[in-house]
Amino acid sequence: MIVQNWSAIQFQYVKVTISMVHSSFNHDLFRLVVEEIAGKEGVDVSTVLVNAEETTDEEIATKTDLKLNAVRRILYKLHDNHLASYRRIRDTNTGWFLYYWRIDPKKAQSLVNKKKMMVLNLLEQRLEHESNNDLYTCVNRDSSPVPFEEAMNLSFRCPVCNSQLEYVNNEKAVSFLRKRVEELRADLKAPS
Ligand SMILES: [Zn+2]
Repeated sequence: MIVQNWSAIQFQYVKVTISMVHSSFNHDLFRLVVEEIAGKEGVDVSTVLVNAEETTDEEIATKTDLKLNAVRRILYKLHDNHLASYRRIRDTNTGWFLYYWRIDPKKAQSLVNKKKMMVLNLLEQRLEHESNNDLYTCVNRDSSPVPFEEAMNLSFRCPVCNSQLEYVNNEKAVSFLRKRVEELRADLKAPS
């Protein structure tokens, strides 16, 4: 990930993940992880799974009012992320396979830890960028501030609206980032 391409979307992503980081391991965390992987319908599917020890895709479809294909797509997404697993049995009458699904909410923790590492990395890069550069920005649009050298190359003019680039006082951003980086580092060191 290149710091210069830092965008509003990435920032949004980090905010979402920070909210995940702050919730201790519980069902909220599990719900957030599932929602990120498989959307709101994924949450519906996993709720059925959490409440049953084992269940079939057809039962889930009935209980959630989702189409069978949608349920299967969600189950495979959860399976790809090691949250759900299945047991397969051949129906002796029809010769077809039956799949019995189960879900393990505790597996959400290792996904979260991976994500925390990723976020920590992004935050550290961003902190370095913010604290090592004098940054300039156009006040007319929501854009990434540029370092002094780049602003100089642009003659301190916004390439979009041509207004003057303003110096950014980023003290608050730097202290916000530093605090988050410290929190995340401590959190990752702590035994889960
Ligand atoms: Zn502009």
